Amino acid sequence: MWTRRQVLAQIGLAAAAVHTLDPHELCCVMPAHAQTAGKDLFELKKVGDGVYAAIAEPRYKVNCNAAVIMTNDGVVVVDSHSKPSAARSLYNEIQSLTKQPIRKIVNTHFHWDHWQGNEVYTNANPGVEVVASERTKENLTRPDAGVGGVPYIAKQLAALPGEIAKLKGDIQKETDPAKKANLESNLRQAEEYQKELQSMKPALPTRTVATTTTLHEGGREIQLHVLGRAHTNGDLFIYMPKEKVVATGDALIDWMPFMNDGYPVEWAETLTALDKLGFEHIIPGHGEVRPKSHLAFFRGYFVDLIAAVRKASADGATLDEMKTKVGDQLAAKYEAGFSKYPLGRYRDRVGTNVEAVYLKVVKKA
Ligand SMILES: [Zn+2]
Ligand SMILES: [Zn+2]
Repeated sequence: MWTRRQVLAQIGLAAAAVHTLDPHELCCVMPAHAQTAGKDLFELKKVGDGVYAAIAEPRYKVNCNAAVIMTNDGVVVVDSHSKPSAARSLYNEIQSLTKQPIRKIVNTHFHWDHWQGNEVYTNANPGVEVVASERTKENLTRPDAGVGGVPYIAKQLAALPGEIAKLKGDIQKETDPAKKANLESNLRQAEEYQKELQSMKPALPTRTVATTTTLHEGGREIQLHVLGRAHTNGDLFIYMPKEKVVATGDALIDWMPFMNDGYPVEWAETLTALDKLGFEHIIPGHGEVRPKSHLAFFRGYFVDLIAAVRKASADGATLDEMKTKVGDQLAAKYEAGFSKYPLGRYRDRVGTNVEAVYLKVVKKA
């Protein structure tokens, strides 16, 4: 018998669902019945003693995973999803496990789907600290930082009326009842998301770390590692040495990486530094909890992609030719491993990854 997740994955296969974070492209096809109850947003999985991964279910507006760390006198939560309603749903679930307050929110990076729910925790827990790297704090208010931060809320709000109008048009044209129902569900989600963005009261970092820092939280050691640039210029890795768990944000995910705000060459180096830490379990920004061996696979993609784009460029290929050629060339090694979910699949992203490497690495050299 299929699990609900497998059913969702199968249904999602029909959709060109991506995590490019372009507000126009954030769609995926979900059955209407899976949209409602709070528990359908996350699956809380125990990773170690008192350490949980809240694995996000696919949604029209994507949510990140969270790490939930229980301590003797409170809870530390890593990342807060794309909207307050999603954070509230996880917060309620945490409250069913412990009545202790949330002490700290750690944001791994500035992207919209990792911090826009912060306000739920700060409103409900006086004195909660919001912790991020210095660069992430800067990015959260920089107009040109990329796909996240306070200025990006206005950009999303400016794009949503067009997105909603397009969904309405697509619903009118659609004749297949199942596809129509999915579009209607997406429309509802887009309209709800718009309302949430309109009333958002961004909760920004209250504490920053510039270099690797160790927190002692209610008897638990939590290390915040600043290892270099990767998915953004401010990625933070949350490492628990005793439990051998690391939460990586989007610097290490179980989907195809999103490189547009990233640093492909340094990303591989940062992952090499991460590899030196003694952990067994990865709570990634997206996808399921993975064993440490996933790091080598993920890092290998960067090394192979950069080499392939360099070679194709030296051979005189155009960008469009490179996208096809390199995409096909690396498929045998990476397509299956990077296409396990309805979102962030190999073929959804390999073209934009090729382009990112070409612009950021080859052309700049
Ligand atoms: Zn993300
Ligand atoms: Zn991200």
